[in-house]
Amino acid sequence: MSTHPTPARPTLPVAGEDHARLTIDLSALADNWRAMARRSGAARTAAVLKADAYGVGLEPAARTFHQAGARDFFVATPAEGATLRGVLPDVRIYVLSGMWAGSERLFFEFDLVPVIVSEEQLVVFMSAIADGGDLPCVLHVDTGMSRLGLRVEDALALASDTARPASFSPIMLLSHLACADDPSHPLNRQQLQRFRSVVEAFDDIDATLANSAGIFLGEDYHFTLTRPGIALYGGAAVNDVPNPMKPVVTAEARILQVREAKTGESVSYGASTVFTRDTRIAVAAIGYADGYMRSLSGSGVPLRKASIPGASGVLHGRSVPLIGRVTMDLTHFDVTDLPAGSVRAGDFIELFGRHMPIEDVARAGGTIDYELLTSLGGRYERRYELAKK
Ligand SMILES: *Cc1c(COP(=O)(O)O)cnc(C)c1O
Repeated sequence: MSTHPTPARPTLPVAGEDHARLTIDLSALADNWRAMARRSGAARTAAVLKADAYGVGLEPAARTFHQAGARDFFVATPAEGATLRGVLPDVRIYVLSGMWAGSERLFFEFDLVPVIVSEEQLVVFMSAIADGGDLPCVLHVDTGMSRLGLRVEDALALASDTARPASFSPIMLLSHLACADDPSHPLNRQQLQRFRSVVEAFDDIDATLANSAGIFLGEDYHFTLTRPGIALYGGAAVNDVPNPMKPVVTAEARILQVREAKTGESVSYGASTVFTRDTRIAVAAIGYADGYMRSLSGSGVPLRKASIPGASGVLHGRSVPLIGRVTMDLTHFDVTDLPAGSVRAGDFIELFGRHMPIEDVARAGGTIDYELLTSLGGRYERRYELAKK
């Protein structure tokens, strides 16, 4: 027992007090789910909610998709599943990392469907249902990703194994595409054919193959259920084509100071940017501790190619380039080309969202929108714009 007195409750920042904010547009989220459901044609459409709904917030995202019509939900871990069960009592919740020894209780207690990913997990599952009673499961078959899932030949052997315990009857087969973001990649068709062979071997079984990008590959890939994630959150699922999804998350940071620097002076750690003109700098209250990655500094960071430009933000409708290195809590933008006096301390700069595509910012950082979204962390004020009824 601690002998210290209980500290006074801290006064948390309330709306308008924080250094940075995320605005999450729940009607765009609902519209994106409906758009994916339309594209999924006759297949049912799930929603993938892993990693706190790609950083958007599990509870508001889950309620929004449910209201739009989703009844199937995927999470990564049993703990995420247990949390989601508290939000949505009567939907199907699939756990993608499956059931390992020690996690069994959560599946029974919170009515979660494990996606069995290996022969070892199959053994754990069989003994769990022998002890604990009936529980549905999904079987993951690896068709070309070498990540999770039974090998195709092992899945086929299982399908034709008459000695297979009658109690083992997966409700669905699942596989995951490695290259769906590149529609012309030959592995897409190969994975489709391998998956089909397993689906046919199991009699009359539901099947799910397509993530967001897989949905765009067309009807052949849809099977019974589709599993969109990133597209729901406004991300670009398919490479090199315009992103048809509505932006969901807008990230903004407060400008703490506007300052002038002279030709020959430099900015931030490592003095990686030396000014070739007199420069006006806006210092924004955002940094890598907020998931605004250091690599967004472009070539300001060693090991990145000299020619890589950094990210840009949007201030008063104008794109402004990031300069110098992103630091833990602070980032610098060049606002020299904006009218003098137009940028002030207290203004908010958009980092990505409505006016600055998230995929462009991610690319500037050498990464993908998935990583940017799931790295945002807990320091933002979060504002949810409600879905229209
Ligand atoms: C994350 C994930 C998805 C969703 O993928 P997106 O590319 O975000 O649409 C679907 N299936 C599995 C197995 C996943 O791990």
